[in-house]
Amino acid sequence: MAKNEIIEEAKKTVKKVAAKAAEKVVEQVAEAVAEVKEAVKEANTPVITPEMAKIPAGPLELKWTNYKNHQKLVNPANKRRLDVIVVGTGLAGASAAASLAEMGFNVLNFCIQDSPRRAHSIAAQGGINAAKNYQNDGDSVYRLYYDTIKGGDYRAREANVYRLAEVSNSIIDQCVAQGVPFAREYGGLLDNRSFGGAQVSRTFYAKGQTGQQLLLGAYSALSRQIGKGKVKMYTRYEMLDIVMIADENGEKRARGIIARNLVTGRIERFFAHAVVVGSGGYGNTFFLSTNAMASNGSAAMQMYRHGAYFANPCYAQIHPTCIPKHGDFQSKLTLMSESLRNDGRIWVPKKLEDAKRLQAGEIKGRDIPEEDRDYYLERRYPAFGNLVPRDVASRAAKERCDKGYGVNNTGLAVFLDFSEAIQRLGKDVVAQKYGNLFQMYEKIVDENPYEDPMMIFPAIHYTMGGIWVDYELQTSVKGLFCIGEANFSDHGANRLGASALMQGLADGYFVLPYTIQNYLSDQIGVPRMSTDLPEFAAAEKAVQDKIDKLMAIQGKRSVDSIHKELGLIMWDFVGMGRTAEGLKEGIKKIDAIKKEFWTNVYIPGEANALNNELEKALRLADFIEIGRLMAVDALHREESCGGHFREEYQTPEGEALRQDDKFSYVGCWKYMGEDKEPQLIKEPLDYEFTERKTRNYKN
Ligand SMILES: Cc1cc2nc3c(=O)[nH]c(=O)nc-3n(C[C@H](O)[C@H](O)[C@H](O)COP(=O)(O)OP(=O)(O)OC[C@H]3O[C@@H](n4cnc5c(N)ncnc54)[C@H](O)[C@@H]3O)c2cc1C
Repeated sequence: MAKNEIIEEAKKTVKKVAAKAAEKVVEQVAEAVAEVKEAVKEANTPVITPEMAKIPAGPLELKWTNYKNHQKLVNPANKRRLDVIVVGTGLAGASAAASLAEMGFNVLNFCIQDSPRRAHSIAAQGGINAAKNYQNDGDSVYRLYYDTIKGGDYRAREANVYRLAEVSNSIIDQCVAQGVPFAREYGGLLDNRSFGGAQVSRTFYAKGQTGQQLLLGAYSALSRQIGKGKVKMYTRYEMLDIVMIADENGEKRARGIIARNLVTGRIERFFAHAVVVGSGGYGNTFFLSTNAMASNGSAAMQMYRHGAYFANPCYAQIHPTCIPKHGDFQSKLTLMSESLRNDGRIWVPKKLEDAKRLQAGEIKGRDIPEEDRDYYLERRYPAFGNLVPRDVASRAAKERCDKGYGVNNTGLAVFLDFSEAIQRLGKDVVAQKYGNLFQMYEKIVDENPYEDPMMIFPAIHYTMGGIWVDYELQTSVKGLFCIGEANFSDHGANRLGASALMQGLADGYFVLPYTIQNYLSDQIGVPRMSTDLPEFAAAEKAVQDKIDKLMAIQGKRSVDSIHKELGLIMWDFVGMGRTAEGLKEGIKKIDAIKKEFWTNVYIPGEANALNNELEKALRLADFIEIGRLMAVDALHREESCGGHFREEYQTPEGEALRQDDKFSYVGCWKYMGEDKEPQLIKEPLDYEFTERKTRNYKN
């Protein structure tokens, strides 16, 4: 090679090397900039301290006692002068309304249904937990606390969960005193059964109708107060906004609500010294869910828009034992209670060819011999078997179905089999325990579950996320309280079975009646305010404007068709398995749905009359916002915990992989305005009393 050529070649090489080195430097600088940005963001993220969350100091088991010993009280004469609005008549709302009235406050109680008894809580089937240790199987308040904390994948507040376990026993006493007909053993003592995530039997039940019986108990207490004139009941009324009025220091406080009379369509104003919201969960964002048709997230969004933080919106529970979806025109999914996992065994075929024949309808489950059945929960989790928590059982079912072992015509079902229990206990005993559930299954699926194993598949069921509340159940807005499933609750990232009824009734009967006094004791000098105040007028006008805007669209799509589309997006992109890429795509699709809704929805009828479509449209407008918030939260939470499963973060065995160093906090979102990104606020979860472990249900 000539000298010149060598020099040219050398120059080229030097250029290449330099370019590569420069590229690397640019990359490193970009990385460093990103890190700095992240650190600045982190440093600027507001934090909620334990003091701000009003968590009492002291040992875990004394916090609640100490709180009660020192909280401020309201004397009987002053109670008579204070009004409290309670929105909701589910177990949380009804128990709170009855208790507050019994204490002497004047209560205004609202619900959408035509009777308080028709709240969604009536659907609860399996039971309610309490640490009575009636079975002498080693239960205790601490164990219930520990199982709940662990079940929630260490994403709940220790002090709240301990209080929940502590008051659980009083709930059972209260309900028994009310006459709730809990199941009893032959000798007359209260019976218990087991639910997921526990190795003891602590679930009190009334056949498969526990929610109904508990709600009748709360309703009788409520009716007594309605009769005494202490509760004014407003059925078929839907709260459409909260009215905020500034106090003498300029601080805004919840002072009332705007509600629509669902029968006449009239918009009305109501004043109170405090507002308590027990409006239930937002699972219906997914369209198909086990929730009641009227369950919605609108009350939560109204609170959120007034400054109440929305905590952990991405924590939604997918329940493993629901009747599989069977068609495109379905509007509701049906739960088969978790209690069935006490005696039912879950399996799929071991051989793919058997699964294919089942899917083609050529054979039935009973045709597959014992040795060809894969009891995959018993195989993977020997210690807890079929009673692993819901998130674990749901993911395991999905894993089997994804691999092709599903047992119905869509390939999206697994068996829940009672043949062994029937042999062991006899058909009569099984019928006594679960009869109404078997009957329900047969009516829907048209198969006899005593003969053929039930088919089940995971479905959206419960929302652990919700409005952030401090230890006193007060939101980040003064005078606005939130109870039951509507708040971000005590279940962390995953709720254990039979713990929602416990939490709703704990909030309503045993927590709020104490804590709200701490707030109301400062309000005794506040006179009843006129609903003619400009704040009420402005809130009413905003509601009316929104309704007028919706009614004026007169587009081409029914509310349900848009809701169904939203539900499919939620299931596909924000469902059981989530990825960063999928969530980003989901957010784009939800934004598109929002546009479609606000330009092309069709609402027939009049606004000033009974109008179910208008009711649904108002709720859907909020479901769209909640869906987006769920996706945003799921995207930011780069870990898997409980019901939130990010596929990028899993163990080699497919179990959830937490990132405690980065995400051990409650993710609260603050509303920043229409179409603006919400702001993240963190409440760190420093585990002081419990050692955090990787959840293990294997041994
Ligand atoms: C099928 C099924 C079975 C279940 N089984 C169990 C079980 O066995 N054990 C267990 O622990 N948990 C169970 N759960 C969960 C449990 O039932 C719920 O979490 C619990 O009942 C919620 O009670 P709540 O009082 O918070 O709300 P809800 O019962 O949902 O009541 C909400 C109330 O708020 C009212 N409301 C809502 N929005 C408005 C508004 N804007 N204006 C006025 N009123 C409004 C409604 O009318 C209603 O009265 C089950 C859930 C389902 C879906």
